Amino acid sequence: MNQIDNLIGGAKVQVTSGRRQAVWNPATGQQSGEVGLSSESDVDAAVAAAKAAFNEWRDFSIAKRTGLMYNFRNLVDANAFEIAAKLTAEHGKVLSDAMGEVARGLENIEYACGIAELLKGEYSSNASTGVDVHTIRQPLGVVAGITPFNFPAMVPLWTIPNAIACGNTYVLKPSERDPSTPMFIAELFHEAGFPDGVLNVVNGDKVAVDRLLHHPDVQAVSFVGSTPIARYIYETGTANGKRVQALGGAKNHMIVLPDADIGLAADAAVSAAYGSAGERCMAISVLVMVGDVADSLMEAITERMAKLKVGDGTNPDSEMGPLITREHRDRVAGYIDQGREAGADVVVDGREQSFEGDGFFLAPTLIDNVTTDMTVYSDEIFGPVLSVVRTDSYPDAVKLIQDNQWGNGTAIFTRDGGAARRFVEEVEAGMVGVNVPIPVPVGYHSFGGWNDSLFGDTTMYGPEGVKFFTRPKVITSRWPDPGTSSVDLGFPQNK
Ligand code: NAD
Repeated sequence: MNQIDNLIGGAKVQVTSGRRQAVWNPATGQQSGEVGLSSESDVDAAVAAAKAAFNEWRDFSIAKRTGLMYNFRNLVDANAFEIAAKLTAEHGKVLSDAMGEVARGLENIEYACGIAELLKGEYSSNASTGVDVHTIRQPLGVVAGITPFNFPAMVPLWTIPNAIACGNTYVLKPSERDPSTPMFIAELFHEAGFPDGVLNVVNGDKVAVDRLLHHPDVQAVSFVGSTPIARYIYETGTANGKRVQALGGAKNHMIVLPDADIGLAADAAVSAAYGSAGERCMAISVLVMVGDVADSLMEAITERMAKLKVGDGTNPDSEMGPLITREHRDRVAGYIDQGREAGADVVVDGREQSFEGDGFFLAPTLIDNVTTDMTVYSDEIFGPVLSVVRTDSYPDAVKLIQDNQWGNGTAIFTRDGGAARRFVEEVEAGMVGVNVPIPVPVGYHSFGGWNDSLFGDTTMYGPEGVKFFTRPKVITSRWPDPGTSSVDLGFPQNK
């Protein structure tokens, strides 16, 4: 059985707590491994290793840091399939999705390879007579990342490359539900040639997280996960004097106007609602159908759902895999009855499709005539359940988003440029798609939602990531005119 422990100071070490947790293959329902749950002293050891590495690492030249980052990029690229295979084995998403996730992670390493350009600083010559002012950005020290189960490769890579390229050292606390992928990525990082202690991994649960939040040597915390935990991380981390960015959950709405391309909108809704079994923070979970688009769109969506192949993610024919755990699958399935009991119409009930074996499967589910007072609307379900809300007009549709507690991603489908432009301008969300259902920004823009989808001042990766992982220092300097010192340098003043 696969045993996953910690990586501290370049060495693999066992957790000292004696506490371990099962890791599952969600496609078979069988236990595939066991992960150690770190004690406070395990976290202390990781932070100490990162602190010990910091002074040497921050002094590595930009050229050397860039070279190492390129090595890392090439190793991740060369091992993309192996990373994806580990990911599918513990998360369950289909291999093509897992490969896509690795590709999105690579973007962030590639961005950090440009650290020479990103850390160039600013210079004002002759701000006052003979006085120059320049700003440099310096690393913070030891920083920590706490990541969710749903993107075990990509989300750690949202912050590790930028943080480390900026000169920080890092302690990662990945999700305890699929820990093999981040551990393998950390091994590749060391193979790339980074000094020991620059990147450390502590596996674990709340005990490890709380120690990171209280540890005096941790300067900053980047968190991605559910909203209640994000709020807790933000409040606890900042109360302990740390810089914190904490990305939370979501309930993403996709609006379809009556003039939309029905085929395009139906393809988008199906892939964005059911891809990765709906376990994406950018998944579409509410489809808002405006006016008479509803009937033709519902038909186009149900046609596509009937053809969607659900199965083991390692099977190349599968388009959607299982959910992360049995408990989560059962919780998600429970929403179907809640929707029906509240008066919605369950058009496709995923529980009706049966699967061989004990895998944590639930087929795609479609619920129509959902209203805002129902739990299928108000809760983040985080599974393959798509709720349809019908509205009469664009203003009614956009009001749903403005009134929602979250504001991660959203999308509009229309052929009307003016309508799209107005939506982009007024909608309360951090990432907006126009005829694009999952508008995850590329690595050179930054990622983050609004409202309860993000706690903190900076979004993640891209330029905002560099800002988060550095602090500015402004230097104002004045030099006397040349030749005024006692040493004769040949300037006329000395004569
Ligand atoms: P989660 O909040 O349960 O866990 C995230 C991390 O927090 C894990 O490392 C976990 O070990 C830790 N944790 C869990 N409970 C804790 C507690 N009580 N105290 C301290 N630490 C705790 O999230 P998850 O189930 O792993 O991931 C799914 C959630 O993440 C969804 O809500 C999804 O929307 C969200 N998510 C958001 C984004 C985004 O960019 N906004 C991206 C991916 C996932």
